[in-house]
Amino acid sequence: MKRVLVATSNPGKLRDLAGAAAAHGVVIEALPGFNKLPAVTEDGATFEANARKKAEFCSKYAAGDLVLADDSGLEVDALGGAPGVRSARYAADDSVAPEHSPNSEDEANNARLLRELHDVPDEFRTARFVCVIAVARSGHTLATFHGQAEGIILHSPRGSNGFGYDPLFYFAEVDKTFAELSAEEKASYSHRGAAFRAFLAWEDESAEHHPHAVP
Ligand code: IMP
Repeated sequence: MKRVLVATSNPGKLRDLAGAAAAHGVVIEALPGFNKLPAVTEDGATFEANARKKAEFCSKYAAGDLVLADDSGLEVDALGGAPGVRSARYAADDSVAPEHSPNSEDEANNARLLRELHDVPDEFRTARFVCVIAVARSGHTLATFHGQAEGIILHSPRGSNGFGYDPLFYFAEVDKTFAELSAEEKASYSHRGAAFRAFLAWEDESAEHHPHAVP
């Protein structure tokens, strides 16, 4: 069975990727020793810049293997695209200067989001999750893949699966929040699932064109 190394210790991302990979007979593994590597400062202006930075840095520790890194977040139209690349630090950004701001707890981020949208009526609560996956080997990015999912921010959380902003992200096609879906269901609609499937297609294509070379 094919295994894919991912540079993350975020259990929510690993669960999502495993959900997407299961349908393709692929196994997701956290990059061994990831937790002992120095943290990569995610100071890029875009998801792509941050994903590349993480993948390139971590792939130097993976002895020639392909390494995937995902950078992702929530863009809310009524907030001009915020929290965007600051999604993991949205609550902390409220109280500390951005350069000192650590990642916040999901509950605190969700509470700030609800606060910011307090007066915003339903029709203007549109948002999207965005994910960029970068694949790198030995410190060089080989390709990047984008995925997104459109939804509406609810007034209160629903569901207990998933992570981050999932309980507030209502996905009309299935009349559920992302936190009300199994990992496999979420992967079939999510930004991360879409980006991961694009990565698998790229990998298959590379194998077809270079049958004896590992992409
Ligand atoms: P980063 O990619 O590690 O910078 O963190 C992305 C942040 O965006 C997470 O900590 C979540 O707050 C949010 N996020 C990204 N993808 C998802 C998702 O699939 N569900 C819920 N929140 C997400």
